[in-house]
Amino acid sequence: PESLLAIQNLKTYYPVKGGFFRRTIAEVKAVDDVSFEINKGETLGLVGESGCGKSTAGRTILKLLDPTSGKIFFDGKDITKLRGKELRLARKDFQMVFQDPYASLNPKQMVGDIVSEPIRNFSNKSMKELKDEVMELLTKVGLPGDAYYKYPHEFSGGQRQRIGIARALALKPKLIVADEPVSALDVSVQSQVLNLLKELQDEFDLTYLFIAHDLSVVKHMSDRIGVMYLGNLVEIADKNSLYAEPLHPYTQALISAIPEPDPRKRKERIILQGDVPSPVNPPSGCPFHTRCPVAKEECSRVKPTLKEVKPGHQVACVLYN
Ligand code: SF4
Ligand code: MG
Repeated sequence: PESLLAIQNLKTYYPVKGGFFRRTIAEVKAVDDVSFEINKGETLGLVGESGCGKSTAGRTILKLLDPTSGKIFFDGKDITKLRGKELRLARKDFQMVFQDPYASLNPKQMVGDIVSEPIRNFSNKSMKELKDEVMELLTKVGLPGDAYYKYPHEFSGGQRQRIGIARALALKPKLIVADEPVSALDVSVQSQVLNLLKELQDEFDLTYLFIAHDLSVVKHMSDRIGVMYLGNLVEIADKNSLYAEPLHPYTQALISAIPEPDPRKRKERIILQGDVPSPVNPPSGCPFHTRCPVAKEECSRVKPTLKEVKPGHQVACVLYN
């Protein structure tokens, strides 16, 4: 498999300002030394509780945020330091689908203008060409042609997310980062939007970074899955390997919480004690040691790094050294 995106030792820290002079008094270690690759045509799911850094990782990859350190390679090119015009051009190839379709669409713009805007920014196509292209995109995402002349408020949540998807597709990107694309939608329309994303992936040869907190949604969508905890990638594996044999104690707890309709397959739910610590002052050693049911003495001292335990299955935990 050929890699489309690779991040190496990516860190994204935010300053916390405080006091009378609004000085930086601390840092939020939102993404703390994360490395992974996404291959062409695959979907990498990124899961974890809210605040674990998965959205920040997605935004850093799309260069909506500057990394504190580390590298981002896209299609073999180091894009970490791209700025200005070069960045604008590179951005054609990677787009985002946002969690909240309500907030991400300009309410004063007609759908035709919303979807054609990225194309207009990069080309001098005639009105007719633009309109044909947008009409085709609207059809591909399952919206009626008259959607072109309507405004976002005239659509349901699921339809608005389809508008967001059409806009993301407008420049024929290679990578789409979808950040919780269905979590704001009614359960009844979630699977329709997920299936649409899958169909579009085949049709447009798309590669996805699919971010979500819901493990069943991620399972449905992904080829491989990475699990984040407190800014760290703690496990990454092929989907089937991860669900059948989760190795990290945190992943085991997450998976044990997925409702299992078949009582014979049901396993005991692992309830984690305590809260996720603050990313301003993360624990020493393993970031999970304060809540890990099987922590050892050394876990508060030694930070485990990702190790490949089985082919394609990496975990960061001393139990597997
Ligand atoms: Fe638990 Fe230790 Fe493994 Fe961390 S390194 S997950 S604390 S056993
Ligand atoms: Mg988020």
